Amino acid sequence: MKLCDLHTHTTASDGSDSPEELLQLASKTGLAAIAITDHDTTAALKPGAAAAMDAGVEFIPGVELSCSFPKGNMHLLGYFIDQNSSELQSVIEKVQAARAERNPRILKMLGKMGLPVSMEEINRISHGGQVGRPHIARIMVEKGYVKSVSQAFDRYLRKGGPAYAPKSILSPEDAIQTVRRAGGIPVLAHPFSLQAKDAEELEGMVTALKDAGLMGIECYYSEHDKAFTALCLDIASRYGLVATGGSDYHGKAKPYIRLGVGKGNLRIPYSCVEALKAARDAL
Ligand code: AMP
Ligand code: ZN
Ligand code: FE
Ligand code: FE
Repeated sequence: MKLCDLHTHTTASDGSDSPEELLQLASKTGLAAIAITDHDTTAALKPGAAAAMDAGVEFIPGVELSCSFPKGNMHLLGYFIDQNSSELQSVIEKVQAARAERNPRILKMLGKMGLPVSMEEINRISHGGQVGRPHIARIMVEKGYVKSVSQAFDRYLRKGGPAYAPKSILSPEDAIQTVRRAGGIPVLAHPFSLQAKDAEELEGMVTALKDAGLMGIECYYSEHDKAFTALCLDIASRYGLVATGGSDYHGKAKPYIRLGVGKGNLRIPYSCVEALKAARDAL
């Protein structure tokens, strides 16, 4: 069976592999296709596409936009976006400015708790890419403040945690329209993170997003169990949404997630790529 991974991060955001390293790994893993979907940046797409040619892996350009959402976290994936869209780039610049303003606030809160982390320490591992909480978490592990990246999130950095600062300035509707106007396919990332209390609430959230222009949902995902994946596939099929899947590979920032296979049981069929292409061709 041909497999793919449509959700990955590189050093352009909070992943630890360069685009070249990621594409080499994709080839070694035997993936037929891969999408790079960095947080709020398209900087890895050109080097990624070039490295994909060398690696003999099909490349799908993507992006993951952080959105504001009352509950949980909402991220919007955009596939086949035109990187040169000036509107997309101007939205991305605004979100990047919000990130740049937020990081020092998180560091200040950590400092007050006796857990100093400096911007210099972060810059050492971010290589000029978009800085996110996983970078801060990695330094906290390095300095012995916490045992793992997960523990840094659970104790300090999670939404509502003692060192949390909000960032998103983009509404889901604006994110969806930005992707659509850049010629891309907007897909709801990791629906579990919306923290719907039951299937009915999730379906209501997806319906509202579909009314705003959403075209797909990420059904196969590292944190989705079989039942939740089945629920997402069912919603996708009933609402005519493209079903996609990805591991959310981050390298060292999420050492428990492996490319293509997530926590071990992820297998994302290549038919997801074909469905995305069909949606793009129908635009
Ligand atoms: P940010 O872009 O700074 O909001 O950080 C978002 C990143 O943090 C995403 O890659 C998430 O997957 C990651 N993240 C969120 N919660 C956790 C957690 N509990 N453990 C590890 N990574 C997390
Ligand atoms: Zn991330
Ligand atoms: Fe995400
Ligand atoms: Fe992601």
